[in-house]
Amino acid sequence: MLWGTEESSSYGQADMTDADSDSSPSSSPSRDMALSPENPLFNKYEIGKLLGCGAFAKVYHGRDVSTGQSVAVKVIHKSRLKNKVNLMNNIVREISIMSRLSHRHVVKIFEVLATKRKIYIVMEYLKGGELFSRVSKGRFSEDLGREYFHQLISAVSFCHRRGVYHRDLKLENMLLDENGVLKVSDFGLSALKDQVRADGLLHTLCGTPAYVAPEILAKKGYDGAKVDVWMCGVILFVLTAGYLPFNDHNLMNMYRKIYKGEFRCPKWMSPDLRRFIARLLDTNPARRITIDEIKEDPWFKIGFSDTASEYLPAESQDDEKKSFESQDLNAFDIISFSHGLNLSAMFDETHSATEDVDRLTAEDSPEGVIRKVEAAASANDADLWVRRTKGYGVELEGQNSNFVASLEVFLLTDRLVVVEVKRISGDAEAFSDLWRDKIRPVLQVSGNH
Ligand code: ATP
Repeated sequence: MLWGTEESSSYGQADMTDADSDSSPSSSPSRDMALSPENPLFNKYEIGKLLGCGAFAKVYHGRDVSTGQSVAVKVIHKSRLKNKVNLMNNIVREISIMSRLSHRHVVKIFEVLATKRKIYIVMEYLKGGELFSRVSKGRFSEDLGREYFHQLISAVSFCHRRGVYHRDLKLENMLLDENGVLKVSDFGLSALKDQVRADGLLHTLCGTPAYVAPEILAKKGYDGAKVDVWMCGVILFVLTAGYLPFNDHNLMNMYRKIYKGEFRCPKWMSPDLRRFIARLLDTNPARRITIDEIKEDPWFKIGFSDTASEYLPAESQDDEKKSFESQDLNAFDIISFSHGLNLSAMFDETHSATEDVDRLTAEDSPEGVIRKVEAAASANDADLWVRRTKGYGVELEGQNSNFVASLEVFLLTDRLVVVEVKRISGDAEAFSDLWRDKIRPVLQVSGNH
């Protein structure tokens, strides 16, 4: 039995048997068992009832077995992800940033775990449900709408300043805690969502087209910040009007309305709010209001006190500062190299943890790593040829051609890279001796698996 209510247990159990049968990072007798208090996810989280399904993932209630703290666990099937190289560059970057940041109005990502088949995003659990269900009972007054909108803009502004864009803001991603405080979910997951949606069809059928910005429809490339502002405009409209600004039974008609910016404000909206919404829903991204300008808008300004940092509890500010300053980055929590439960399973299906593959993290730039490898190879006794390949990669060849290996460097944060080396052909022993004795030690190693 899973913990939770009778109803939720059976729902969760049936589902998790399928969804999470490989919760163990390696083959083990528990592989095909349902998760249960005796068999928690990664021995860390008991999984309870299914909270809901989105286009992107299933979300379960969970409990941290060591602290008893409630969490929400988002489970994504990797079979739905494309292009695993991009995962490394974009997803880990975004998630690593978000898991190091705390903001009162952003759902906190605690950690990300991965097995060969699934990715688990462990997040703060919000008890208060979706803002959507409140507004679906009736539109908000302008004052109440403004209050929530302040919280949304505070979160968006905070993340944008750190280079993280949402690109899928919608009312369903606005969750509430037990005190009714708004928290934006899925910040930091846009690169991951892109991968899930790479098949297009899924996105069209299951996504939320009513929030899409016109420049996305135009397919000419877009600016994540501008897209987020548009989506905030749609959210504000729904909060204060009680219905979507662009809607039609026919999807193509809806897209046409979005593209042309055809919407009408209801008569009860104040002139200031109408003007503000028109600036948010400006189809021209270059003209569209910016986050800084939003904060100066007469309708918005009422009762708003900025400084996103004000929303950070003091200890979180310290944490944030520390994580940027120190080399002991929380990226380890994300890639979990040190735990052996690593996201490397995400990137490589065929070579995981064999003698032919090694990964390490280094506090260096990609170029710095390549130069160190080149320097090590040109040392007299190295017996190694090095050739640069595209991106931050090199091919390594034993000088008497006894092996060929490839080495790639992935940027994880501004100061941390992952170096991955793989033997492609030739003598496994010659390769691993040379790597272990001559190359690995010269890279600034701070963790490995
Ligand atoms: P989409 O990509 O369509 O936005 P998704 O696949 O990311 O969706 P969500 O909509 O985020 O999935 O989540 C599915 C359900 O789980 C929703 O009903 C949501 O309310 C609930 N949920 C998500 N995150 C949490 C959380 N941190 N705490 C409590 N409930 C959550």
